[in-house]
Amino acid sequence: MLTADAIPTTEPVIDVGIILPGDGLSSVELTLPESPAYRAVCDGRISELKGGQRITISYDHGRLHLESGLPELSAAGEIRLEARDNNTAIAPQSGIRVAPVMAGRGFHWQKTIEVYLPDTLIFRIHEEQMILISELPLEHYVMCVATSEMSAACPPALIEAQTIAARSWLLANVEQKHKNMGMDVCNDDCCQRYQGTSFLSPQSIQGALSTYGRVLMYGEAICDARYSKSCGGMMESFDAVWPGYKLPYMVVKPDMPDAEAEKYKNTDLRKEAAAREWIGSTPDSWCGPRHIPESELKKYLGSVDQDAAYFRWKIELSQAEITAALRKHARLNVRAVLSLLPEKRGGSGRAMELSVVYYPDESHKTAVYKATSEYEIRRILSDRFLYSSAIVVKLKELSGEIPGVFEILGAGWGHGAGLCQIGALGMALHNKPAEEILAHYYPNSYLKKIYD
Ligand SMILES: [Zn+2]
Ligand SMILES: [Zn+2]
Repeated sequence: MLTADAIPTTEPVIDVGIILPGDGLSSVELTLPESPAYRAVCDGRISELKGGQRITISYDHGRLHLESGLPELSAAGEIRLEARDNNTAIAPQSGIRVAPVMAGRGFHWQKTIEVYLPDTLIFRIHEEQMILISELPLEHYVMCVATSEMSAACPPALIEAQTIAARSWLLANVEQKHKNMGMDVCNDDCCQRYQGTSFLSPQSIQGALSTYGRVLMYGEAICDARYSKSCGGMMESFDAVWPGYKLPYMVVKPDMPDAEAEKYKNTDLRKEAAAREWIGSTPDSWCGPRHIPESELKKYLGSVDQDAAYFRWKIELSQAEITAALRKHARLNVRAVLSLLPEKRGGSGRAMELSVVYYPDESHKTAVYKATSEYEIRRILSDRFLYSSAIVVKLKELSGEIPGVFEILGAGWGHGAGLCQIGALGMALHNKPAEEILAHYYPNSYLKKIYD
């Protein structure tokens, strides 16, 4: 595991959570590769395994069991599967095939998938459930993450920029959401999407090799470099999304070439009228259709979860859909929703506070529920999780004061702070190098090689 507040001087080994306690998985199937040769270490006892072998690892009666055709092995503590030669090379679909594994936890696209995991696998018991950790050198992790997030068709400059951002975020090591389970990060959008070598490409291997050990720095610290799919034309500030403190390298800034950005130097999207106008317009942003046509996005976005426009989008939610979503996700006793009012916006136009004005069950007095973060606003309004909270809501098909339909216009996808993946793609397609892309999205930062 990584050490908090320490900048490593050699490449660290990290622990990625693959099966978490909430997944409810008590048995998985594994297929070993022909090469390298693996061995199982069950509570310290070593058994050699055969190449190509299929095995099952399960949890039952307080113990982990490894079934492989041999006499069954079991462990009360942990089962490690490790390569006999620990200097293994990494390649697309190398390592152990594992199924099932969860993807998209808690989202409407949650599903089980199979993944190829390189290096070492560690099965443990946590609160009477089986967990699985993928332990691997940090550089193997970042090359896998770069293509889990975007497709291998992306230009090298984008893959390099994304790899440096992912490496920096991991090493800044601020969140540590899963530390109590011995994990630096998990494999999902909660941290960074990691699907082992399943979608690894020669391009992402190259992207990690050519940026080996390089991170973004601010002062003496590694940058907590966040990123999202599309900022919508204006980058959000770190503190608007994660209140508490400001980071001078994640600030409100137009995601545009300088000449275009000039036009918006007096624009303040925290103001309601400006935000409404912005969301209704199509500025010439790096992430907008002028620099990257939406019809071409598909080939770059990797295994995306939904077909949609990202820069500007429109959805309609019926009164029934919205009340059902609020009942489920905000636990509101709601009979009818009257209006949705953004109360406070961040510098990208994202609503950070939103009032839901509604009639509770069996009452004719209106009540107000306040959602207080961009994440909560996206989570509670729709079963399909709004792409972003930079929204303008139009009430339609009113019967009396109760709307039948809420038309929602939106901008961007994700929190919008830091690197905008589609904008970075737009810049890379216009031949901007990784250094320039990173300087654009993380102003005031600098690059440094911390190990080689
Ligand atoms: Zn996580
Ligand atoms: Zn953008």
